[in-house]
Amino acid sequence: IPVDPFDLVIFGGTGDLARRKILPALFRRFVAGQIEGDVRLIGAARGDMDRDGYRAMARAAITEFGGEESARKKDLTAFLDLLDFVTLDARGTEGWEPLAALMRPDRIRAFYFSVAPALFGDLAKRLHKHGMADERSRIVVEKPFGRDLDTARDLNRTLARHFSEGQIYRIDHYLGKETVQNLMAIRFGNVLFEPLWNSQYVDHIQITVAESVGVGGRGDYYDKSGAMRDMVQNHMMQLLCLIAMEPPAKFEPDAVRDEKLKVIRALDPVARRNVVRGQYEGDGTQPGYRNQVGNRDSTTESFVALKAHISNWRWAGTPFYLRTGKRLRDRASEIAVVFKDAPHSIFGADAGRHRNILTIRLQPNEGIELGVTIKEPGPGGMRLIDVPLDMTFAEALGPEEADFPDAYERLIMDVIRGNQTLFMRGDEVEAAWAWTDPIIADWEEEGATPLDYATGSSGPDDALMLMHRDGRRWREIR
Ligand code: NAD
Repeated sequence: IPVDPFDLVIFGGTGDLARRKILPALFRRFVAGQIEGDVRLIGAARGDMDRDGYRAMARAAITEFGGEESARKKDLTAFLDLLDFVTLDARGTEGWEPLAALMRPDRIRAFYFSVAPALFGDLAKRLHKHGMADERSRIVVEKPFGRDLDTARDLNRTLARHFSEGQIYRIDHYLGKETVQNLMAIRFGNVLFEPLWNSQYVDHIQITVAESVGVGGRGDYYDKSGAMRDMVQNHMMQLLCLIAMEPPAKFEPDAVRDEKLKVIRALDPVARRNVVRGQYEGDGTQPGYRNQVGNRDSTTESFVALKAHISNWRWAGTPFYLRTGKRLRDRASEIAVVFKDAPHSIFGADAGRHRNILTIRLQPNEGIELGVTIKEPGPGGMRLIDVPLDMTFAEALGPEEADFPDAYERLIMDVIRGNQTLFMRGDEVEAAWAWTDPIIADWEEEGATPLDYATGSSGPDDALMLMHRDGRRWREIR
């Protein structure tokens, strides 16, 4: 279904994110027929460039990052016709009048802040000053949203001076992932799972976001941030919320976000012994973390594992284990809901220990797997084995249907439609910082360095111990 006509300004329209994600996403929505001709897409950034130069840059970016669709040359040319460019300084006066002149009356206006967060306030202020912050306007804000509670609060306050909460779209691209939304469909669209979705039946939950790559060229940024700020406070917290929240009464923005907020607020502070942080070592061919970021004394973590508790009626007693890191064995993201043992084994001790595990795979091979226990085939008596009921979406739905839009496609279209369900509200972000801040502060106070771990491993041994001492173990990163 095509969206209403709109004007979209991409501040930072020549940057890495715009080239790799935003422009290709818009192009694919154009090919899909969701964006029609009466749309204006305006890149706004520093630097000398004109409209033709911007179109040439966008053509190159879409050809490189746009996937199969970018082979459709006619579509690409038609799409590029929608693009315009304004040289603009977020902190100065240059470019603001020309930009205002390009905005058409009676159009939805979206402003994508794809620039360094330090400029978010400047952009909001100038949009207001130049008459572009009216009720048809909305702003899209990239991560990181602050680096702790204080900075996030300041940012919320600054934006609130010029835009209402209903106009602010804080992006967490994890929420745009098809499988993440499916998590809600699975929980609240089936009767099968919800009755079991509590501490009476769930032993524990594991959330893993493992990357095999290191910090690459982002070393400067990453070293000031670390896995806790870059991954746990936002993406993993969102996954945890969707797994743990109470059923919202409706699939509507504030109904969903209210429930997520309650989860974050119910999180206990994490004790020092329940957190492990690590830094990857080099492996002969690839440099170790400290070398790679060019900071020999860096204590920034490229790995975190922790045990969280949600103190509410549903989850008291069921731990949530989170781990994320770079240079791990493989690139794999999944949520595993590990159910409790059957209360009594009629098959005796020989049958071994078997558990149902529901796994939601975010990557690779997005899909869902339910481990069930069955009899091992053959005449050998009642031996039990676990087999997966596996639903890889690509197989279950066919390759066409499972060709999911990229998270950015979905989220940008939601901005135009005015649907904030998959965006973080200001109070959610603040609550998440309020939970992670003491963990980071404790590291600073403790003064210890992160533990080394080998490239290609599954993190420091202490992370394994975090589970072992509870009589549990991490699922293998495959
Ligand atoms: P980048 O450095 O590649 O691009 C920055 C853009 O901002 C350029 O277009 C530049 O011209 C413009 N710019 C810089 N100063 C300006 C000023 N004073 N006035 C106007 N324009 C100015 O950065 P990026 O990697 O594209 O990241 C943009 C934002 O997205 C950041 O907030 C970043 O944290 C966030 N982000 C990036 C990625 C990513 O993969 N690149 C992922 C998640 C979030």
